[in-house]
Amino acid sequence: MYEYKELGLVNLKKMLREAYEGGYAVPALNFISVEQLNAIIDAMLIKESPVILLASPNLGHQLGFSMIARMAQAAADRITAEGKDVPLALHLDHGMSFEDCRKAIDYGFSSVMIDGSTLPVDENAALTARVVEYGHRYNVTVEAELGVLSGKEENLATEHEQRQSYTAPGLVESFVKQTNADCLAVSIGTNHGLVKMRPGPDGTLPPLRFDILGEIEKRLPGFPIVLHGASAIIPRYIDMINEFGGDVRNSQGIPVEQVAQAAEGAICKVNIASDGWIAAMALTRKILAEKKDSIDCRSFTLPIRRELSMLYQEKMDMLGSSGNHRLAV
Ligand code: 13P
Repeated sequence: MYEYKELGLVNLKKMLREAYEGGYAVPALNFISVEQLNAIIDAMLIKESPVILLASPNLGHQLGFSMIARMAQAAADRITAEGKDVPLALHLDHGMSFEDCRKAIDYGFSSVMIDGSTLPVDENAALTARVVEYGHRYNVTVEAELGVLSGKEENLATEHEQRQSYTAPGLVESFVKQTNADCLAVSIGTNHGLVKMRPGPDGTLPPLRFDILGEIEKRLPGFPIVLHGASAIIPRYIDMINEFGGDVRNSQGIPVEQVAQAAEGAICKVNIASDGWIAAMALTRKILAEKKDSIDCRSFTLPIRRELSMLYQEKMDMLGSSGNHRLAV
């Protein structure tokens, strides 16, 4: 059993409260490689932004929860060594079972998500309450989800591919009361993966359901809400992938203005994974095509770190978290 505080990490409680009060959202960024982790920390130090590192159960299987927690500890050590006090959290993204969450907590994650959104609501509430009871013993914060986002996320929940249902505002109060969760992911029109929105018959993109978000906020004043599936699916990287041998078609991200608008209100944590992966993949393809004699992965890993750092800095500015570390420590 490891204590997240000993790893130099913080839970989400204060971070999200300060984000709510400050009218911004904390970037919650999935990482799957050392370069990506380093890029996130580079951006965080430049922008002095709080950050929530997201690690999925899949990453747990790939690297081991222990390795992930040690990577986050090393990142926190680097922040301290550079004389900054920007807060860093390590959060399990889409824990699908009590066991996923327990393992993450035992290895030193400071926060976990239990995603029971595909279950009937009472089963979702019971599972969430069980994780909350365990997490809170160790001061670990717990995110719950109500309402279903569609789209595939690391093959974790294929049911998500088939259906989307918006969060029913009428359910949120009792769900939060019953579960005692610390924050709630909602479904207001974003989706995981490459296709997040489809244009209407007139060719324009539908707006996110700010009406639903407003209703939720009214019922849960001061309570932090989480937005998943917020990648912009940046066309220049999709074009680069296709130019250098890839075949990625019909992608559509969430317009950044809509995400920025959500971040000004009750949305306090915004999850972004795909944008980082797409940028890294695009650059890898381009560099491998251009440097045909390269035998060293660093010919693409180092440029990826620089590119991703710039990408994450833009996200921090867009979410309004840049420079907001003093409030959150
Ligand atoms: P994107 O696919 O939009 O990056 O969403 C990631 C996410 O919500 C992780 O939980």
